[in-house]
Amino acid sequence: MIQKKVILKRGKEESLLRFHPWIFSGAIDSIQGEPDEGDVVDVYTSAGVWIAAGHIQIGSIAVRVLTFERIPVDEEFWKKRLETAFGIRRTLGLVDRDDHNIYRLVHGEGDNLPGLVIDIYGHTAVMQAHSVGMHVDRKVIATALTEVMGERITGIYYKSETTLPYKADVERNNGYIVGGPSDDTPLEYGIRMPVDWISGQKTGLFIDQRENRALLERFSKGRNVLNMFCYTGGFSLAALRGGARLVHSVDSSARAVELTVKGVNDNFPHDTRHSAFAKDAFRFLDEMDAQYDLIVLDPPAFAKHKDALKHALIGYRRLNQKAFEKIQPGGILFTFSCSQVVNKEQFRMAVFTAAASAGRNVRILCQLHQPSDHPVNIFHPEGEYLKGLVLAVD
Ligand code: SAH
Repeated sequence: MIQKKVILKRGKEESLLRFHPWIFSGAIDSIQGEPDEGDVVDVYTSAGVWIAAGHIQIGSIAVRVLTFERIPVDEEFWKKRLETAFGIRRTLGLVDRDDHNIYRLVHGEGDNLPGLVIDIYGHTAVMQAHSVGMHVDRKVIATALTEVMGERITGIYYKSETTLPYKADVERNNGYIVGGPSDDTPLEYGIRMPVDWISGQKTGLFIDQRENRALLERFSKGRNVLNMFCYTGGFSLAALRGGARLVHSVDSSARAVELTVKGVNDNFPHDTRHSAFAKDAFRFLDEMDAQYDLIVLDPPAFAKHKDALKHALIGYRRLNQKAFEKIQPGGILFTFSCSQVVNKEQFRMAVFTAAASAGRNVRILCQLHQPSDHPVNIFHPEGEYLKGLVLAVD
């Protein structure tokens, strides 16, 4: 068999020596062996030294590195990587619990598996490929996953229709690739979560806000809470359990509001403290009364690419300013950005400007980030995306 190889231009191995997992197309001198998109290729320096192996793809990120060690990328390889990932979640105390069965098992580059996401909901794993290579290898990964997880998993739902590059020449069907649906209830620290991995956003839940929802619970007692961009209502459920006086959930998606209401009914039947509204955030903030003293702003990514950065920062400023203008004195604001291209300082500056424009004196109580089952590879700082601030508004 002809070896499928990528030869780098002179000096372009430097970032790989620091274990950065991406090779940009501009760093490549030549490609040999006619690899198909999604194949595993060996990467050599211009001096002919083997340096890495990874999935090749058409686009600006040409190779996503799977290994810097010269080992075969076979079932054993996937098993080892998944075992390591599982070991970390076990260390974090997220597995084999009665009150909790939702966690992210694989977080792409953060688990040395660029392009792959696996989320666990009870006995179901939802697997998502963001690269063609992970799509090509989905079956061997699923087999390895079954072996690593044993009886913990009875079904693997594959969901990559919208996450694969749209130009890639691959068949993309969502569906179970192992087993089928199970009837267990997804639980987050004792709260029954309405998760719809088949038609919901992402893999069905924003697992990345788990610890921040738990924190909000502690701030909620006796407060009037507005959960803006509620999606499945996780922050609302936390606030209700924390003893909020009232909780209003808002999302522009009617389906999201429906799921939120279901979650409230499942956990707090006959509780009259909660109402949900299918409405645009900016309209709701403009029209609402100044009755809230705890507001959550968790908008979708305002910028998905670098060139949208300026508009994103304006968006964050406008949104936060509206909240600052209406929040009660003594109020608490949980405000987030999940845009990867917006860094912590830029986000904080946008919120600072919003507070100044609204004429409110604000102190930072907590600085929030993604949870530890969404690890950041230290050599891939791009993987740090979620940031948040808990603010006391005088
Ligand atoms: N806080 C949620 C996740 C929010 S995801 C959680 O903990 O699960 C962002 C949500 O914003 C999505 O549900 C999306 O439907 C909603 N959204 C997007 N644009 C919106 C807008 N203009 N007004 C209100 N909601 C919007």
